[in-house]
Amino acid sequence: MILRSAWPRVLVMPLALTVLGAPVALAAPARTLIRNAALVLTMDPALGAGELGLRERVDLLLEGDTIAQIGPNLKVPGARMIDATGRIVLPGFVDTHDHLSQSLIRGCRTDQDLSGWQRTCEIPLSRFDWKPGDVYHAVRLSTLGLISTGVTTVVDWSHGHTPRFAEENVQALLDSGLRFALAYRGKADPSVIAHMRHVKRTLIDPNPRATFQVGASPGTGPNVLPTLLAMSGLAKELGVKLHVHLLENISQTQEQVFESLAQAGALGPSLLGAHAIHLSDAEIEILARHDARVIHNPLSNMRLASGIIRLPELKQAGVQVGLGLDGGTNDTADMFSTMRAAVGLQRAKLLTASTVPTVNGVLRMATVDGAKLLDMDKQIGSLAPGKKADLIILDPRAINFAPRMEWISQIVFNGQPANVEWVFVDGRALKARGQLVGVQPAAVVKAADEVSARIRRFLFP
Ligand SMILES: [Zn+2]
Repeated sequence: MILRSAWPRVLVMPLALTVLGAPVALAAPARTLIRNAALVLTMDPALGAGELGLRERVDLLLEGDTIAQIGPNLKVPGARMIDATGRIVLPGFVDTHDHLSQSLIRGCRTDQDLSGWQRTCEIPLSRFDWKPGDVYHAVRLSTLGLISTGVTTVVDWSHGHTPRFAEENVQALLDSGLRFALAYRGKADPSVIAHMRHVKRTLIDPNPRATFQVGASPGTGPNVLPTLLAMSGLAKELGVKLHVHLLENISQTQEQVFESLAQAGALGPSLLGAHAIHLSDAEIEILARHDARVIHNPLSNMRLASGIIRLPELKQAGVQVGLGLDGGTNDTADMFSTMRAAVGLQRAKLLTASTVPTVNGVLRMATVDGAKLLDMDKQIGSLAPGKKADLIILDPRAINFAPRMEWISQIVFNGQPANVEWVFVDGRALKARGQLVGVQPAAVVKAADEVSARIRRFLFP
């Protein structure tokens, strides 16, 4: 197979797969009964109390990749049992904007703002001599971090520096067991566009857990606009989302970003704008009017001195907003810290605790709102019979989490990845009893570290 031929031999040898931490058999058991959960956040107000759809002391039956039933005292002879006594069950987190290959540059020049970090750590990587396996190891490491923190769906905005870069990126995502979208950053170059089509057709479309997006950058500059026009056209032709970085840095307010998006015909429900910090009132109104969606990346925005998103104004206008981890610029995969920062930034800016997002609101942003943003809320983002069995179980009986005062708030303000005991995607456990399933994390870390050492020598000779 053409794509495999570019791969390092070790990656296609079963023994090496185990050594490198690729998953072993991950088949979902036919029926899994999660028994006696103390609290379930269904995120479906029709199924429980309040906007989080809360249920207490119920069981969840998973059949194959689907949630079959939620209710008290379910009797299911022969099902695999998971005792959830004292635990909290909620939908898996939806990380709507990330750059998984950037695990290789974690910690790079944390004294820099966005442009300094890009200049020093990110942009030079387009000239790095990517060897077979490099991207695979990087993305593999990132996906283990995502599973650890309870992410079940991720959107990976991939730079796709070379054809092999994108292919290894997808392979590591497929091997992770996660649900994912690959946002392939394209160029107005026929060979790149041909490869984007090829990746979608051969690697993404055959896999029900995978979807394709087109990544691009807005702006009217002579090197930017032609690519945006081509990418917007491609996204429409393929019927997929166009995913751009939108007004992340204040300097970008000079780049006629909205004019370029209008020119490309990109304003609409298929537009995902990551960051969206430096928006005017008029631009917020344009996003709302076109049902364009926004992704908030609070940890990255803090570290890169990018600014604070106008979240209350966006929500007030009716713009759909999800949460993202944003790769190497937040330096960790931790959805709890991300939720905490999203709440805290607005409180610190507006000098009131009565602002958006509320605790309930940020939990919805991290789950069902993220699913809506991707037009996937019919399958994921909430727990209801017929939905995909993408869910997590938290064990609150931990030093950082106990005792029980107000668990919903404690998820946001006290939660840590270590509290995530189980992670299911399509009914398959990717984390079980606090441990990643079917991988040797130390081997994955070692492989990524070897690549990172070469990158370090390249960036800082
Ligand atoms: Zn980003």
